[in-house]
Amino acid sequence: MSRFWSKVVHDLTPYTPGEQPKIANLIKLNTNECPYPPSESVLAAIRAAASGDLRLYPDPDSTALRQAIADYYGIGRDHVFAGNGSDEILAFAFQALLNHDGPLVYPDITYSFYPVYSQLNQIRTELLPLDDDFTLDLTRVPAHAGAIIFPNPNAPTGKCVALGDIAALCERMPDRVIVVDEAYVDFGAETAVSLVKNYPNLLVVQTFSKSRALAGLRVGFAIGQPELLAGLERVKNSFNSYPVDRLASAGAIAAMEDRAGFEHDRQRIMTSRTWVNDQLSALGFDVVPSTANFVFARHPQRDAGELALALRAKAIIVRHFRLPRIDQHLRITIGTEAECTALIEALKEILA
Ligand code: PMP
Repeated sequence: MSRFWSKVVHDLTPYTPGEQPKIANLIKLNTNECPYPPSESVLAAIRAAASGDLRLYPDPDSTALRQAIADYYGIGRDHVFAGNGSDEILAFAFQALLNHDGPLVYPDITYSFYPVYSQLNQIRTELLPLDDDFTLDLTRVPAHAGAIIFPNPNAPTGKCVALGDIAALCERMPDRVIVVDEAYVDFGAETAVSLVKNYPNLLVVQTFSKSRALAGLRVGFAIGQPELLAGLERVKNSFNSYPVDRLASAGAIAAMEDRAGFEHDRQRIMTSRTWVNDQLSALGFDVVPSTANFVFARHPQRDAGELALALRAKAIIVRHFRLPRIDQHLRITIGTEAECTALIEALKEILA
């Protein structure tokens, strides 16, 4: 607390990022990073960009990066917005598109940055309770919603909704902005990018941090019709007009072009997820069916907080949220094959 803070800052409960501890031989399964490194072509592109040109500002419009994303999805560059991580794009969306008279609606269990952005922007919110099995039922979005945001797949549950249900919502609420946060979409859910041409109210947000192995580079993007993107642009140019730096842009373009490496790694992660899911089930865990690069699981006989601590004592960190409805669950990122094996071996010892 400080008398120097504004009232808004005084009342904030900031987001707590997953830890990045400096423990030797740590198995880090707490922040849903990609367990495999970026491909050599990506590293080479970043090295090449580390030149004397760094004295110059980057392209404020990220034209080349937006073109690479547009080419990947077969859409126009004018439908792509780029930013410094998808968190920044979400922050812009909260300010530009999600602050209306009606409440902003999002699931009661979801990405914990949403309440923070809402508080920061003083947006009135209404929680949409997930079903008991964590299903998000979009038919229950209330008619009085001012705007809607949800991750697909949801975080931290890993459950996804069908594309048809998103289309139906866009159709039912044509005057409300609907943001679909697709941070984890490449691990088994279906992207809503194909719906953007039909729905001017739909914004799809994605990131290079998970399936494209570049969490350290901080690049995200949004896909939507130019009318929505112009709203993001206005906030961007009132905040930081060069959000994507030269190294980030070079690396992200190369990552978008490396389709084979992307495909290979995401398949590998999905295969490991099936294995982890089966092993956890065999150990007595209830595992939520996941379409993300993490699983969400609880053990009916063991306290989740204690399990997280016991894993930590073995240098394995997972995420435990002390939040209503999910304080007995653990969110476990899918690591390399060796890390997944170490996790299961550690749990066997702890449960024995
Ligand atoms: N959305 C969701 C649902 C996430 O879990 C994350 C990662 N914490 C993000 C967005 C933000 O990712 P980034 O800023 O690294 O793109």
